[in-house]
This record gives sequence, structure tokens and C-alpha cells, in this order.
Amino acid sequence: MGPALPPSQVELEAAYKRELKAHFGIQFNQLYTLANMPIQRFGSTLISKGQFDSYMQLLKDNFNAATLPDLMCRNTLSVDYLGQVYDCDFNQQLKLHAGNSAEPQHLRDYLEQDLTGLPIKVADHCYGCTAGQGSSCGGALS
Ligand code: SF4
Repeated sequence: MGPALPPSQVELEAAYKRELKAHFGIQFNQLYTLANMPIQRFGSTLISKGQFDSYMQLLKDNFNAATLPDLMCRNTLSVDYLGQVYDCDFNQQLKLHAGNSAEPQHLRDYLEQDLTGLPIKVADHCYGCTAGQGSSCGGALS
């Protein structure tokens, strides 16, 4: 999908269930819609097509505060192959390490800690999680 917000997850799931069953006999339980994040390959594509700023504006214009309580970074960590910890997979791709320090934090240092209230590193790409119906590993948020 290009520089647009995903359609309603509920409506898209109903349409896919109907069409896949009718044409291929395929049934499934749940469909997740995720917004394209303006980073890495998709971010580069947007820049090369001159669409980065308009996509960011689209995300910002559709900011939905109702998504905030369920953002995946509030209850999930991302750990890379070295054991370094991030607030989410997107932050891992951007090398934004979890915690107060700019230095990498290792999972072993987190195991005995109460992580409640630790700040989450946010930046403009976070609008990708909070736009419209919201976006996470579990699909739409609101
Ligand atoms: S991109 Fe930002 S808002 Fe989305 S899960 Fe990561 S830290 Fe949270």
C-alpha cells in the first residue's frame, strides 16, 4: 500500500473473509491492518518520490489520542539479536535504545527491574502508530 492510511480493519476483514471464501474456499480468523511507517525502506521510497512530507502531514492530521493507552510500546519490549532492548521494533530499526541513556541497554539489566514509568523514546515516526484507527503488532488499536 502506498502513502495512505489503512482502511477500517473491521470492514477490510469482512471483505476479505467474504471474497476469499467465495473465490478460494479460504477461511481465517482475524485480519490485522498496519500503517506504513515512514522509516527505512518505505521512508526512503517516500523521499525519492517527494511524498515524505505529505505522508507525515497525513499521519499528523489524523492523530488519534484514543490510540495512546494501547500503543504496543507501553507493554512490550523489542530485543535484538545482541540482547539490546528497544521500546518497539521500529525504534530498533532506528537504533533508538530503550531507557534514559543513548547507550544500548541489555536485556539482562532489565530482568530484575521494575520498568513501570520508564520513559519511551518517541519521535515523528510514532505518528504512524497513532494515526486514524492506530497501528500495532496486533493491528488496529481503536
Ligand atoms: S513507533 Fe513510537 S508509538 Fe509506535 S510503538 Fe514505537 S515508540 Fe511506540
